[in-house]
Amino acid sequence: MSQQFLIAIGLAALVGGLAWWRKSLSISGAIGATLIGSLTFGFGGLVGAAVLMTFFISSSVLSKWKQQRKKAAAEKFSKGSTRDFWQTMANGGVAAAGIAAWGLTGQPIYWVAFAAAFATANADTWATELGTLASQQPRKITNLRQQVTPGTSGGVTLWGTTASLLGALVVAAIAQLGGAPSLRSLLAITLGGLLGALSDSLLGATVQANYHCPTCAIETEQHPTHSCGTPTQLSSGYGWLNNDWVNFLATLCGAGIAMLLS
Ligand SMILES: [Zn+2]
Repeated sequence: MSQQFLIAIGLAALVGGLAWWRKSLSISGAIGATLIGSLTFGFGGLVGAAVLMTFFISSSVLSKWKQQRKKAAAEKFSKGSTRDFWQTMANGGVAAAGIAAWGLTGQPIYWVAFAAAFATANADTWATELGTLASQQPRKITNLRQQVTPGTSGGVTLWGTTASLLGALVVAAIAQLGGAPSLRSLLAITLGGLLGALSDSLLGATVQANYHCPTCAIETEQHPTHSCGTPTQLSSGYGWLNNDWVNFLATLCGAGIAMLLS
């Protein structure tokens, strides 16, 4: 194993440990982040690390920011702001595969895939974290008429979508420090990230598992029991297709779209 990889593993473990200490990650989440970080730092070097850290720091800061105000919306999510192993894999797995392919082949298209996967994860996080703060009432992405409560998977607002575009653009701009920088790759990564985040909402509104709490008479992603203690019932979507799967598929969409555009 090369020296670069040993340094990469050490740095990734340090960042994962700090995030666990700051309660941004659970223990299993810190292990997942160390795995993804090792591959990203090891194959992507400093610029790869900068792309990952842009997503990681901005999403950690945003999800802790004004946490009180978001409590009502967070009630709907299946998990809190402490990320676990599968959440880190869902957000970073496609990117880690992309950076490994880039490191092994040197093909710029895999750099684009890597960056677009993180652009998608960042765009989705910015839309969720900043979107739930706006007073705009989200509408369901499939018809844009039906109003849904803030924090509902598949709900979109103009403000959230704008935040999404900015989140993708920031990652795309940092990614221009590596790979084969060009205006085309900047646009491909940005659009891939935006469309990847929109596909996240689309999957969230259609096939993602949604549950109903009979006691509170509300829709939730929490199962098998709601926070009130009542067992929840599947009301729409596929039981196995949870938010982690949706995030994974969305980063795959974002990476694929960016590869086609680049
Ligand atoms: Zn309940």
